[in-house]
Amino acid sequence: MVLSLICPTKDPQPWMAAIQAIAPDVDLRVWPDDGDRADVTFTLVWAQPQGIFAQYPNLQVISSMGAGVDNLLQDTSIPEQVTVVRMVDPRLVSQMGDYVLAAALNHGRQFSRYGQQQRQRQWQPLAPLNLDQITVGVMGLGQIGQAVAQRLGQVGFSVVGWSRRAKAMAKVQVFAGPQQLADFLSASKILVCILPLTPETENILNVETLGQLPPGAYVINVARGHHLAEADLLALLDNHHLAGACLDVFRQEPLPQDHPFWSHPKITLTPHIASLTDPVSVAPQIVENYRRLTAGRPLLNPVDRRQGY
Ligand code: NDP
Repeated sequence: MVLSLICPTKDPQPWMAAIQAIAPDVDLRVWPDDGDRADVTFTLVWAQPQGIFAQYPNLQVISSMGAGVDNLLQDTSIPEQVTVVRMVDPRLVSQMGDYVLAAALNHGRQFSRYGQQQRQRQWQPLAPLNLDQITVGVMGLGQIGQAVAQRLGQVGFSVVGWSRRAKAMAKVQVFAGPQQLADFLSASKILVCILPLTPETENILNVETLGQLPPGAYVINVARGHHLAEADLLALLDNHHLAGACLDVFRQEPLPQDHPFWSHPKITLTPHIASLTDPVSVAPQIVENYRRLTAGRPLLNPVDRRQGY
C-alpha cells in the first residue's frame, strides 16, 4: 500500500517530513517517480495534472492538500468508487479568521481612506464608526465560515450569515438558500465570501448580487477567484456603489501584470495567502485516514462529490 504525493506546484518535502515524523512505516512516494502505480491506494494531491488518476488502477482515496476541492473535482478521471477527502484544520480556520478580521477592521476604521489622505498630507478626521453599527455578512457557514462569523461577533461586529441549508448559530442571524439571499445581501455592509466553488456559486459575486449590498458596502473575497465577476466589481467600485474590496483570490493566479486590480485605489489585494495549510498541523489527519483506509473504517472529512464540496 503506497501513499503518493501528486503536487506539481508545491514542494513535497515538508509534507513528506511531516508524515514521516509521525508515521515512519508509511510507504511514501512522490509523483512522477512513484514507482508501480498499481501499488498506490492513497494520493495526496494539489493541482494535479488533469486525467492523472486513470494511471492508478487500485486507487481508493484522494486527499486534497487544502480545504477546497474545486480544481480536484473537475478531474473527470476520478473513478466513482474513489473517496475524496479534504483538510479540516483548526490552524487553517484561525488564520482565515485573522485575515478577515484584519480586512474588516481595516475597512471599519477607514485605514484605506486615511492612507490616501496621508499620501496627500491631508489631516482630516473622518466620522468614527462603531463596529456594532457595521453588519458583516458571511457567505458560506462551513468549517471556516462559521468560525469567522463567531470571531467577527466576538470583537463587536454585528454578523449575519448565509448558507445552503438553514442552521442555528449563537448571535448570528442565518439566511439560507437563494430565496433568502436578497435579505442577506441588503443587510451586509461588509460582505465576506467563504463559499466553496461549485457550479451554483461560480460568479455569485456579480452586478446583480453586489448591487443589492447597501451603498458604500465593502467586499472581502477569500474563497475562489471564480466566485467574482471581476468586471462587475470594477463597475460598482467606479460608480461608487461599493466603497472598496479586499481580494485574496483571483480568476487567474498569479494575477497578470496588466490586470486593473493592481492599481485600483479601492482594492487591497494579497497573493492567495489568507490561510495556508501547514503540513505539520494536518499530517495527523492524513495519517489517520491512511490508517482508516487500511482498517476499512470510514474516513475523516469526506467530500460529497455530487454536491461539489
Ligand atoms: P465547507 O464545505 O465546510 O462549507 C461550505 C459552506 O458553504 C457551507 O456552509 C455550505 O452550506 C455553503 N454553501 C455551499 N454551496 C452553497 C450554495 N450554493 N448556496 C449557499 N451556501 C452554500 O467549506 P470550508 O468552510 O472548509 O471552506 C470554504 C472555502 O474556502 C473552500 O472551498 C475554499 O475554496 C476556500 N478557502 C480559501 C483559502 C484561502 O487561502 N483563500 C483557504 C482555505 C479555504 P451548508 O452549510 O448548507 O452545506
